[in-house]
Amino acid sequence: MTEADQNLLLKAKDSKKENEIWFRTIRNVKTDTLHDTIISIHQEVFAKTDCMTCANCCKTSPPLLTNEDINRISKSMGISAKQFTKSYVLQDFNGEKTFNIVPCKFLQSDNTCSIYDIRPEACRRYPHTDEMEYPKRTHLNVSNTLVCPAAYNILEKLKSVIHQHDLRI
Ligand code: SF4
Ligand code: SF4
Repeated sequence: MTEADQNLLLKAKDSKKENEIWFRTIRNVKTDTLHDTIISIHQEVFAKTDCMTCANCCKTSPPLLTNEDINRISKSMGISAKQFTKSYVLQDFNGEKTFNIVPCKFLQSDNTCSIYDIRPEACRRYPHTDEMEYPKRTHLNVSNTLVCPAAYNILEKLKSVIHQHDLRI
């Protein structure tokens, strides 16, 4: 991770409380208008983001796994879902499954993913900033700014746009 990205994560940590409060204040924003704005900001930020110099999500945040993920990846590896689960999966008391270790075992030394084409759905969607439910997910969004420099940049740009154009109803 670059020094600039590390600095963004420090700013995200300092802004954590403020951002949690901010998400509560946008509950009444028109969802359709906001979604188009968020998609545009998401695309703008990721066009300038080099995930290959970062990989902080893969190094620090084990993705949630669905049974479909487990079946697909284990099949591709030529082992049973049961064997895969024993070697790679942790299940918490709520029944939620994640990989059992970070950095992810599938992350390679050049920051590429060895199972990229069949990676878990949660990896594909991370950091969830282009999803319709984004404005409603305070905890997840703020948590992601502590891990993902792009998620922090997206949130800061969104705050600025909402402030400038007064999109609140
Ligand atoms: S999605 Fe975010 S945390 Fe993951 S590699 Fe890209 S910038 Fe880094
Ligand atoms: S499966 Fe691939 S994309 Fe997902 S955390 Fe592991 S290395 Fe990253």
